Amino acid sequence: MKFFILFGPPGAGKGTQAKIIVDKFNYRHVSTGDLLRKEMADGTELGKKAKSLIESGSLVDDYIVEGMIEHEIESNPDAKGFLFDGFPRTIAQAESLDRMLSQRGKSIDKVISFEISDEVVFQRIKHRADIEGRKDDADPKTIQNRIDTYHKKTEPLIEFYKNQGKYYGINGENDLNAVSARVEKLL
Ligand code: AMP
Repeated sequence: MKFFILFGPPGAGKGTQAKIIVDKFNYRHVSTGDLLRKEMADGTELGKKAKSLIESGSLVDDYIVEGMIEHEIESNPDAKGFLFDGFPRTIAQAESLDRMLSQRGKSIDKVISFEISDEVVFQRIKHRADIEGRKDDADPKTIQNRIDTYHKKTEPLIEFYKNQGKYYGINGENDLNAVSARVEKLL
């Protein structure tokens, strides 16, 4: 069973690439953002708890997303592999993921990172707001908070995975097909 992480700031193209790749490789695409949006849409307790944090562009508590990931791994014992998208986003989440996998005799194979400037991220998210109608894409203050949160809490993971020899950076500003081709080579 393979485990890949699609890494990068919001708007870097993780979800778009995951959707392209997932059909070709038959891996399971697990986006914590999608799972949280589903909880919100279903009006569950968890969704209600997460709503204000998501809509202001802050991270939800580690234990919530860690629980979601563990549940996904547990309930798909026959999966060929997993593509995590938007997880982990903190060092604590990455350590928790390592523990979860090592308890099962598994480990992360590669971290595929979409490297992209803040300016391009900002433009892409503003563009996506018109297409997907996400509340956290619409307000420039929220977008900025997500970018700041990425730099503060998520970017340290680059060193974390470089130290493990698992970090593969690709230019996320290239066009869609060029990026897909690079990702496919790494999988
Ligand atoms: P995304 O769709 O990945 O951009 O995620 C949307 C929002 O969901 C984020 O801005 C966070 O509020 C929340 N979220 C998604 N994944 C995580 C995570 N791994 N840790 C904490 N919050 C998350």
